[in-house]
Amino acid sequence: MKFSELPLDERLQRAIVDANYTAPTPIQEKAIPPVLEHKDLMGIAQTGTGKTAAFALPILQNLLQGGDSKGQKPIRVLVLLPTRELAIQVSDCFEKYQKYTRLTSACIFGGVSDLPQKRALSRGVDTLIATPGRLLDLINQRVVSLKKLEYFVLDEADRMLDMGFIHDIKKVVALLPQKRQNLFFSATMPPEITKLAASILRTDPVRVEVAPQSTPIERIRQELYRIDKRRKGALLKEMLLEHPEMKKVLVFSRTKHGADKIVRVLEKAKVTCAAIHGNKSQNRRQEALGNFKTEQIRVLVATDIAARGIDVDNVTHVFNYDLPDVPETFVHRIGRTARAGRDGVAISFCAPDEEQDLRAIEKLTRVQIPEGDKAIFEKLPPPQKETPESEARNSRWRTGKFGGRKAREQKKESAKKEPSKPQAAQKQNANPTPKTHTGKRLGSRARRRLREEQAKRQQSQNG
Ligand code: AMP
Repeated sequence: MKFSELPLDERLQRAIVDANYTAPTPIQEKAIPPVLEHKDLMGIAQTGTGKTAAFALPILQNLLQGGDSKGQKPIRVLVLLPTRELAIQVSDCFEKYQKYTRLTSACIFGGVSDLPQKRALSRGVDTLIATPGRLLDLINQRVVSLKKLEYFVLDEADRMLDMGFIHDIKKVVALLPQKRQNLFFSATMPPEITKLAASILRTDPVRVEVAPQSTPIERIRQELYRIDKRRKGALLKEMLLEHPEMKKVLVFSRTKHGADKIVRVLEKAKVTCAAIHGNKSQNRRQEALGNFKTEQIRVLVATDIAARGIDVDNVTHVFNYDLPDVPETFVHRIGRTARAGRDGVAISFCAPDEEQDLRAIEKLTRVQIPEGDKAIFEKLPPPQKETPESEARNSRWRTGKFGGRKAREQKKESAKKEPSKPQAAQKQNANPTPKTHTGKRLGSRARRRLREEQAKRQQSQNG
């Protein structure tokens, strides 16, 4: 099927061409016709399936057919979403699709000043895209009225419930006119979602279900680098410096602290990058994401939670800086690349204590990840031997928990066993053939570089 076969206004068709959509995705094919016929819809679909266009295009078409209202525009469409990121994403889609029409939309969400949002609403909009808290707030302030609403879209319903928005949703629904068209989307359908859907939708809604559009794993070129934890930053940096074709790179870190550390390493090497995670303000996260989407920065470092639901096109490389301990997460991560028929590369770093995670991933995906080119190790500093303290620190960092008594005991124990630092340094200097992390003798270039570094260090200590 082609978009041109759908009964959509020429202005929408032009916007679709501009967006480079050639054929409707399965959910669009199934959902657009019944929504055009003003039927209620229950869509079981995830982000990435094209569900936004599946509801936005037919709603815009129906609005266009209804004609423009005179005077101040009432809000005719409400799209409710759980997070600011998703609200902005959906708002961007509406703007993209309605750009050749006179239809307008606004996006409201919490965590920022409401003044610009109020200003946008004062001009009157056809579509309001909102998160529940800010919506109720602006309704209470009488800035928003939903009395003339015709279309209600509840998106990501299961996440709404996970995030505790059930009461807010019920409050909003109670304020809507009885006569309206409802579209309800959720990735999963546990019993409480079915109950919520039944309380919102009219009887006999059209049910549309699509499987998540997963990237076939065979299309992703994978590489594995076995590397000690301490040199992962240096390895990432070297790879980015050596491969300019790594243009839009998503790096997954297990922890927020780890993500910030990666950014510090890359910034030092003048690689443009930013991190998104739970400790960053909404504004900073949005800015980072926007800059990554428009390729103003080359690398986005994210934790799995922060990356949930975020959709970025054309990611060329995904780095698993740390392997996830849930193997399914690995599949989600690497599925961010090689989308829409494009090629993609996923590069995974595996520290000795992540071998078990690697085995679980390879078992789940039934793919043995091939090892990458080892020549890159020549460019790295030699591995530092792990001490019981650093092991304890790593495991604490890895689990996100503080080691407590055990770590303190290990520290004490190692202080007893380990020689003092100057002695240890002497011992290292006495070793004439440093080894790579795999135990091989270093190559001549790497040995020369090491000698130079040691001489420099010595000089700066003396000076
Ligand atoms: P969504 O599931 O709505 O978040 O959409 C996921 C991504 O697919 C977005 O980047 C859309 O721009 C893109 N998209 C939506 N529909 C199509 C289509 N028919 N062809 C190509 N890309 C699409």
